[in-house]
Amino acid sequence: MKTSFVDGAFVAPDSQADLLDNRNPSAPTEIVDRFARADAALAEKAIQAAAKASLTWRRSSPQVRATILDRIGTEILARRQELAEVLAREEGKIVREALGEVDRAGHSFKFYAQEALRANGEKFDSVREGVGVDVFTQPVGVIGIISPWNFPIAIPAWKIAPALAFGNTVVFKPAELVPSSAWALAEIISRSGLPAGVFNMLIGPGRTVGDAILRSPQVDAITFTGSESTGRQIAQLAAQRMIRVQLEMGGKNPLVVLDDADLDVAVEVALNGSFYSTGQRCTASSRVIVTAGIHDAFVERLAARTKALRVGDALSGDTDIGPVVDPSQLKQNLSYVEAGLEEGATLVCGGQHLENDKGAYHFSPALFTNVRSHMRIYREEIFGPVLAILKVADYEEALAAAEDTPFGLSAGIVTTSLKYAEDFKRRSSAGMVMVNLPTAGVDYHVPFGGNRGSSLGPREQGTYARQFFTRVKTTYQLA
Ligand code: NAD
Repeated sequence: MKTSFVDGAFVAPDSQADLLDNRNPSAPTEIVDRFARADAALAEKAIQAAAKASLTWRRSSPQVRATILDRIGTEILARRQELAEVLAREEGKIVREALGEVDRAGHSFKFYAQEALRANGEKFDSVREGVGVDVFTQPVGVIGIISPWNFPIAIPAWKIAPALAFGNTVVFKPAELVPSSAWALAEIISRSGLPAGVFNMLIGPGRTVGDAILRSPQVDAITFTGSESTGRQIAQLAAQRMIRVQLEMGGKNPLVVLDDADLDVAVEVALNGSFYSTGQRCTASSRVIVTAGIHDAFVERLAARTKALRVGDALSGDTDIGPVVDPSQLKQNLSYVEAGLEEGATLVCGGQHLENDKGAYHFSPALFTNVRSHMRIYREEIFGPVLAILKVADYEEALAAAEDTPFGLSAGIVTTSLKYAEDFKRRSSAGMVMVNLPTAGVDYHVPFGGNRGSSLGPREQGTYARQFFTRVKTTYQLA
């Protein structure tokens, strides 16, 4: 039985513990790992340990932090195949994609190892004679990290690494669907040389363990990735407590395809952005907005490519699209397919539960045409491989359609026109804009995040992470 990591040690297994089994979505009778669930009392212990460790860790040498973070990154990268297979077994991401995610986690630790050493601070002359002004950053304190199931190792890594690099201590709660990757990461961190209490991990439910983290007066900031509805609750609690919060939430990311697009590029970009990782990416392009001149040829080619995608076991090298993560996400995908049909869209292909003898949660990627902009499949985040294609007259109509959403995470355009590419980059209100590239698939060394209902607070990743994970101090001194 695996357990939470608190104050420098994995908690002793308790025969009375509430048990959590995570299952392989490619073969749900198979239990990946068994865990003892943490409760609010254990969360309190972890928070106290983090608060105590913060007093010394905040003054630790940047070299110590850099060496430890680099060591963690090195081990993640050295064990990439094994970690990717754990990820594929518990989340259903195919191994090829899981390897990319593990690499990203390793590189994030190595990037923030260097960031820990990066000089920061500025010196000014005061407007008052004989006075000097220093501006520098300091750690925030105890950071609560709450992560979702769809990137079980990369999202924890890109939150934990900067938190530690900038001298904060951590209480981390992964999603209950994917504790194995989080546990493997915690196990690597446990041997990295961090003092006890600096890093803590709690495997447990959001409503108890997550809630304890959110409400503790010892927690100085919360970084959360997950659904918009949970994000809203967290924002309200953080506002009441007046603590710093960083939220990364949902998306309904548009991909615009213009008449002048290279058709091959357009089809591959749409296929990747909409269906890879089983559509379970916050940056997935779940709506494609296509101008009339290229619409029919685009749909025909995309449908042919979509039908040829092999849906199967995440651990098999032949699989293009792994299973949906769990039965409730499968039900949600199927109910959106039904809603699309009821609202009058045309299902060109897919949208079915592909049953097999292992009971896998396989779902065939779905393509809808004759979509109207009021339809639920066009407006709401489905978080599955369900694509709605909207036909428009021209670029201006496409841009207006792309902007017609409460979200603002990522947006893309496929065009050979420099004029439209530049215009779209400037006028799209998404936080990340792609030209001739899928809306999903981003780098670890540059800022990540969106606007409106997709994100709140400073950007994650790259050098911008310093904004959330540090506080600015201004000092004045009479010479
Ligand atoms: P979720 O909101 O259900 O859960 C996210 C985390 O919050 C989990 O760890 C969960 O246990 C915890 N939680 C749930 N209720 C809580 C509560 N009341 N108090 C404290 N913690 C609580 O989201 P999910 O289903 O795990 O993830 C899917 C969502 O994540 C999608 O909407 C997707 O778009 C979003 N997502 C966004 C990004 C991004 O960077 N913008 C990246 C990945 C996923």
